[in-house]
Amino acid sequence: MQKEYDVIIIGGGITGAATLRDCALRGLSSLLIERGDICDGASGRNHGLLHSGARYAVTDREGAEECIRENRILRRIASNCVEPTDGLFISLPEDGLDYQANFIAKCREAGIDAQAIDPAEALRMEPAINPAIIGAVKVPDAAVDPFRLVDAHILDAQRHGAEILKFTAVASLVKEDGRVVGVKTSKGDVLRAKEVVLAAGIWTADIAAAAGVRIGMMPSKGALVIYGHRVANMVINRCRKPANADILVPGDVVSVLGTTSDKVPMDACDDMHATPAEVDLLMREGEKLVPSLARTRIIRAYAGVRPLVVADPAGDGRNVSRGIVLLDHEERDGVPGLITITGGKLTTARLMAEMATDLICRKLGSTAVCETANRPLPGSEGRKPGFKDPFNKRAAIGRHGTEIGKMDFEKGGEILCECENVTRAEIEYAVKNFGVRNISDLRRHTRIGMGTCQGSFCIRKVARVLAEYVEASADELVYEYRQERWKGMTPVLWGDTLREAEYMHKVDGNEI
Ligand SMILES: Cc1cc2nc3c(=O)[nH]c(=O)nc-3n(C[C@H](O)[C@H](O)[C@H](O)COP(=O)(O)OP(=O)(O)OC[C@H]3O[C@@H](n4cnc5c(N)ncnc54)[C@H](O)[C@@H]3O)c2cc1C
Repeated sequence: MQKEYDVIIIGGGITGAATLRDCALRGLSSLLIERGDICDGASGRNHGLLHSGARYAVTDREGAEECIRENRILRRIASNCVEPTDGLFISLPEDGLDYQANFIAKCREAGIDAQAIDPAEALRMEPAINPAIIGAVKVPDAAVDPFRLVDAHILDAQRHGAEILKFTAVASLVKEDGRVVGVKTSKGDVLRAKEVVLAAGIWTADIAAAAGVRIGMMPSKGALVIYGHRVANMVINRCRKPANADILVPGDVVSVLGTTSDKVPMDACDDMHATPAEVDLLMREGEKLVPSLARTRIIRAYAGVRPLVVADPAGDGRNVSRGIVLLDHEERDGVPGLITITGGKLTTARLMAEMATDLICRKLGSTAVCETANRPLPGSEGRKPGFKDPFNKRAAIGRHGTEIGKMDFEKGGEILCECENVTRAEIEYAVKNFGVRNISDLRRHTRIGMGTCQGSFCIRKVARVLAEYVEASADELVYEYRQERWKGMTPVLWGDTLREAEYMHKVDGNEI
């Protein structure tokens, strides 16, 4: 007898991972299918801002309230993925102060603690911001590491019996008598489930369309740049109607500036990269937030696509609600066995998963209740190990929290990536827990090659070690990594970044 799951979830971004965790905690037999590695879509290509909701307070009260509720929950259950930086919304002379007064009132209505502070005080808190500011508001924004957050959900789901099938695309939905009863993979396997959940981000529309279900989605591209230093310790926002390049987020040792919002064709979503024009725009606007960005090296640029659901797919995507969309296709389209969960944000994914899993449970006749808001994720249970640990362990503690106990530093304490202090022990852990195949996969789970040198100095050493665990030679691993990294470096190739690319070229002897 072929196994039938209670639930198959399509898509290994934060929405799919959070739904898998919720289903597993409620005792449902669950499988997640991802065509690439987890975080291959928008979940690995965003700002890493744990919204307080302030950004949406004026335009989307419901979204703002969801954000502040989830912000508080994630600080508790995902403490190892969240850095409680707080945020400043600053007003420049060209912005005026009209927006600020309404902004503070709307934040408070949504339950967000927004405090107006004197510009001089704001400059004392965050000396890097533009000294010309005429106003500032402090809000409980935070930085969140999306890779760590998704990993933690996947680990918890697996530890509660869920299964994951990566590097396998869903080619089509399988229907019998009008009901969706499973999926057919790109490898030709048919996998059956009582309910199939579409959590495939912007690709949800295409998968649904193949089963005769129409979901109007608008791909909204956002480009971001990474500066090679942490220029501020708080999230810095512009206090004005949301626009281009008005958020700077500190992330580990770097700073991420973004974003833009442009409608792009569906067929562009598989090959997302930032363009030189987008980088120019981001730099121009970013320097207004923090003037020292003009002298700070950009190490790469990237872009992602927001999965927005729209009734009318016109406009640039900024005027469309970023709200959560849960679709019961039995009720909406007369197609039982199929549910869609999309829209929303990284910040609200846990809530999205709760809504989807509540619906699944109702359909399956389960009375199990949601526990995800109260159970800490792996790595965030209990107190984080102390910082008295040896140097080679400390960065891994920051990345993996209490999971550190599962790494063997006795045997694998040697540091391989010196920007991010990644050791062999951490590589072994990532290979064992996340099915890593190459350095790009490893990067998502350890930050290898994400630091200032972008792998120039360490990647050969890393490749030699990784080759011991995977089916690829060190040369093949280096080549794959460089091809992938090159995409993000191309639009920012000048000055030191160009010199570094020349250096990589000489060291590797690869065509770039
Ligand atoms: C530029 C930008 C900045 C953002 N900044 C923030 C922020 O700072 N804070 C915040 O809270 N939110 C932010 N967001 C929003 C947030 O990133 C997204 O809402 C969220 O990541 C969406 O997650 P998802 O899992 O629904 O989709 P995705 O992460 O896109 O996941 C969908 C997955 O489905 C997989 N898939 C597709 N087709 C198939 C198939 N046929 N078979 C199997 N798998 C398939 C894809 O490979 C992908 O991994 C930002 C978004 C963008 C684009």
